[in-house]
Amino acid sequence: MVNNLYIVTPRGFCAGVEMAIKALTWMLKIYDEPVYCYHEIVHNDWIVEKFRNKNVVFIEDPKELPENSIVMLSAHGTAPKIENEFKNISMTSVNSVCPLVTKVHHEAKRFTKDGKKIIYVGHKNHDEALGALGVAPENMQLVESVDDINEINFHDESVALLAQTTLAMSEWEPILNKAQKEYKNIELPRKSDLCYATTNRQKALINISDKVDIVFVVGSSTSSNTNALVTTISNLGKEAHRIETLEDLKEINVENKNVAITAGASAPEHIVNEISNFLNPNNLEFYTDTTEEEYFPLPKELRTNIAGLSKLLQSMFPQNDTEPSNGISKDKNWSATEALSSL
Ligand code: SF4
Repeated sequence: MVNNLYIVTPRGFCAGVEMAIKALTWMLKIYDEPVYCYHEIVHNDWIVEKFRNKNVVFIEDPKELPENSIVMLSAHGTAPKIENEFKNISMTSVNSVCPLVTKVHHEAKRFTKDGKKIIYVGHKNHDEALGALGVAPENMQLVESVDDINEINFHDESVALLAQTTLAMSEWEPILNKAQKEYKNIELPRKSDLCYATTNRQKALINISDKVDIVFVVGSSTSSNTNALVTTISNLGKEAHRIETLEDLKEINVENKNVAITAGASAPEHIVNEISNFLNPNNLEFYTDTTEEEYFPLPKELRTNIAGLSKLLQSMFPQNDTEPSNGISKDKNWSATEALSSL
């Protein structure tokens, strides 16, 4: 039996994932099916399957989109060229990119306009990296490791450094140091590209690590920030496991161990609860490192369409309260977990 079990806060859905899940749920409610989604809406298999069962079709190329259909672009951000292709083919295109990914796209545009070359630290072929590199493909080069900096050939040029939002701090910092050593005048964004959700979840784990023997990180293998949490703990010399379902727990010896559970930014809370119940510890504690208040409104295109629809219904049926009970004005109080349950 587990000795102490710590459930770590913050964990699970970040504001960008909350927004994207609610946006796709709204789209299923107001548009004819199928609704198409470019890339997995978020990198979590359970959530993707839940939407797939509700007739959301996930696609990886604008060519897969039938003309005049409805499409949502995922939270990871889309290269401008691809976004335009979707706009030209679809009847309605809703971009649910996280505003913190958009910030990195804006930085790439600004540095390019200022005549700088950009080193982008990220994971090759990750959806977010592909979207960001598509902002200025001729001007940006991807690095994944400290050694990759040696392969870059920007020496005589003015250089800037950008990053994927979901890197492990322990992965980003050595690359940052190396780049600053190689390029004395390298420009950085005004505020770190590693987003608040990524760093908060990692710092919480670092701060509790002395009390635990094992950390379980709930999330899918495709989730960069989930993998970053596992890396963060492994780099401290502690045992860390990524857990997708209860099955993954069965081979792990937890006898008399002190365990912490966290979850990546796209992992649903019910799996944390299932694990906690399964482990049935001697002592359960909730460890709060910091609380998060961030809220990102639904994409503008969707807000406009929902408001238009509500207005139309209001004019047709003035005697009724035509706004759905979880209407747009109440979006802030409606969670992605509730949205998923409503499907
Ligand atoms: S992990 Fe960060 S950047 Fe990614 S969707 Fe969440 S808040 Fe946005």
